[in-house]
Amino acid sequence: MPSYIFVAGGVISGIGKGVVTSSIGKLLQSVGYTVTAVKMDPYINVDAGTMRPTEHGEVWVTSDGGEIDQDFGHYERFLDLDLPKMNNITTGQIYKKLIDDERAGRFLGKTVQFIPHVPDEIRRRIENCARGFDICLVEIGGTVGDYENIPFIFAAKNLALDNPSAFVLLVYLPTPPHLGEMKSKPAQHAIKEMRQLGVDPEFIVCRSDRRLDALRREKIATYQNIRTDHIISAPDVGNIYSMPLVLEEQGVTSLLLKKLGLKPGKTNMGGWRKAVRRMSKPKATVRIAFASKYVDVGSSRLPDAYISVNEALKHAGARLGVQVGITYLDASKLEPEELAPFDGLLVPPGFGSSCVDGKIAAIKYARTHDLPFLGICYGMQLAVVEFARNVCGMKGAHTTEVDPKTLYPVVDILPEQRKLLESSAYGGSMRLGSYPAVLRRGTMVRSFYRRKTVSERHRHRYEVNPHFVQDLEEHGLVFSGISPDQKLMEFMELPGHKCFVATQSHPEYNSRLMRPSPIYLGFMRAAAAKN
Ligand code: GLN
Repeated sequence: MPSYIFVAGGVISGIGKGVVTSSIGKLLQSVGYTVTAVKMDPYINVDAGTMRPTEHGEVWVTSDGGEIDQDFGHYERFLDLDLPKMNNITTGQIYKKLIDDERAGRFLGKTVQFIPHVPDEIRRRIENCARGFDICLVEIGGTVGDYENIPFIFAAKNLALDNPSAFVLLVYLPTPPHLGEMKSKPAQHAIKEMRQLGVDPEFIVCRSDRRLDALRREKIATYQNIRTDHIISAPDVGNIYSMPLVLEEQGVTSLLLKKLGLKPGKTNMGGWRKAVRRMSKPKATVRIAFASKYVDVGSSRLPDAYISVNEALKHAGARLGVQVGITYLDASKLEPEELAPFDGLLVPPGFGSSCVDGKIAAIKYARTHDLPFLGICYGMQLAVVEFARNVCGMKGAHTTEVDPKTLYPVVDILPEQRKLLESSAYGGSMRLGSYPAVLRRGTMVRSFYRRKTVSERHRHRYEVNPHFVQDLEEHGLVFSGISPDQKLMEFMELPGHKCFVATQSHPEYNSRLMRPSPIYLGFMRAAAAKN
């Protein structure tokens, strides 16, 4: 029977519930337990596929093609799991299923009600995800006290009736500058709020800018009647990968195992600890320019829109013992000469026509100045456009995403995909999830991966147009990875360049701290060699 650890958040959102949930999972996994993780999102969107990255951060893509909230990325990165999309449960999915079932007459005339039908369907889904694992972590999205996450808390309570469970509440303790003192009152209110919903949080993880002192710990323990050692400090850490180590210092793993009635064991975090240590003492900083679109986003946090790309660069940096310094250059105003001080250029994924010219100009600079370049998805498509225009002489070559009337549609929607696009709703029209590519012998990409066949995740509509492949290759561009049926160009490179590689896929989704993405690692190695 699986044990459950439910993680909810109090006080404010955005305090790193995903990282704490993943860190707890990592520790339990390192003892030898099999762990999985479920994210419950209270929004009515069926998935995160249609959400704007500036509002909600990047969309995470699972290998089975799910489009999910970025927190899911932390789970996969920390736990090194390949989680299926069913592990993301949204309010939209629950209501959709219930209404579809009701319309199909599957309730046999019964009244379909919020209680019990909504929490029951949530419970059924969580149990499905947990099957076969020792421990299932369940993150309850939103903040305790929100109306919209009540059904999820109901479902959690219900599961806890029949299964070994622990409830963790992540709270925030602010230190108002005018007081200079950490305040525990909002955290105490959050604990009360959770109790009003019928859940006694057994572990309180306290997020704050500094370490929780004994006084505050004692205060929460006494006023809220919670064991002192169950009050865990989670101060701001410069590096999120050190969070499991911070939690472990406070004995979290054995306390949780005890609560779940599972056999205690020693954590094995040696390799992880070493990687974190390497990250804290970098030999050098590698300066990477991002020719990006989402620069002007007001108060929104830009790095969130590219979080997996950033993390993949960090993983590669950790392996090489260097730090990555990312500069977001607004591609709509970018002057190619601005790239001169950088060690590498990354053109990230993107959609639509804005900033495309700046990105193409940046790619041209990298190509002609031997500046290490990595193009991801749109980054590869635009590298093909740049090469077609400036090397093959195809004036006005473009992707039909931007210029549907171009004479040289070097990037286009392929006929089979057009059929899909026309027949299905917006959300379902992309090539999503993992697809294999066969890497060509003797190429740089093959030397990075050191394998013949690789599988990376995808999220795009357009492809390199097969009609132009021969022409492009005759001018020196090499498609170094192609789909097994030879139709889809998955990787490209320019021989003779220090490192000019790009891919139609998103290898960042498969990058892990202990297993950096080979193409990111190759790019970073070339960039690090520049200085
Ligand atoms: N806009 C491009 C496409 O849909 C690239 C998408 C991406 O970068 N993820 O094909």
